[in-house]
Amino acid sequence: MKAIILLGAPGAGKGTLAEGVRNATSFIHVSTGDMLRAAIKAGTQTGLEAKAFMDKGELVPDNVILRIVSERLAQGAPEDQYMFDGFPRTLEQARQLDETLAQHDAKVNQVFLLEVPTPVIVSRLSGRRICKSCGAVYHVTNIPPKVADVCDQCGGPLYQRPDDSEATVLNRLDVYQRQTASLIDFYERKGVLVRINAGSDPQSATAELLSKLN
Ligand code: AMP
Repeated sequence: MKAIILLGAPGAGKGTLAEGVRNATSFIHVSTGDMLRAAIKAGTQTGLEAKAFMDKGELVPDNVILRIVSERLAQGAPEDQYMFDGFPRTLEQARQLDETLAQHDAKVNQVFLLEVPTPVIVSRLSGRRICKSCGAVYHVTNIPPKVADVCDQCGGPLYQRPDDSEATVLNRLDVYQRQTASLIDFYERKGVLVRINAGSDPQSATAELLSKLN
């Protein structure tokens, strides 16, 4: 088993980069945010537990996150290579991940820190729109759909994630600083942190990441 992590503030482009890496490698993309949104859509107990936290931009409790991640890893095979996106987000999650990987004789191989200036992040998130039907991602000015509020790919309606409103975005950035940013130091000390300039276009950030991937 092999594990890499995409670390960065909300809006740093973790999901977009993950897609680029997945297309170019055999890494399996594990996004806890996507898993939680799927759980909410399916109306499961986990979804019910998570929704109120997510809508406010707060972190979902560690025990819920660790449960869904370990359930996901338990379905996998020993040779699997995982790319975690949006996980871990707290030191407790990072420590538990180390323990879980150790049980599989594995460790975190590399942690890619996506560095983006804060004003760029706020504009990316508050302008983000998503297709309700197929999940394609747009931006009101950077990646506008051909017809306003309609998906180019499937014709589905575009919507704004409830946690992408400007007030919630600012709270999510604050939560990142308070609860997640300490992971930078944690992984730097382990010698696995790799910095990526993710402030411009996703293609060059993806290329930089792929060139630094061991
Ligand atoms: P994301 O799609 O990664 O931006 O995640 C959206 C929301 O899901 C976050 O704002 C949190 O409320 C929740 N979430 C996702 N991953 C985690 C995690 N590892 N720990 C706690 N909450 C999470």
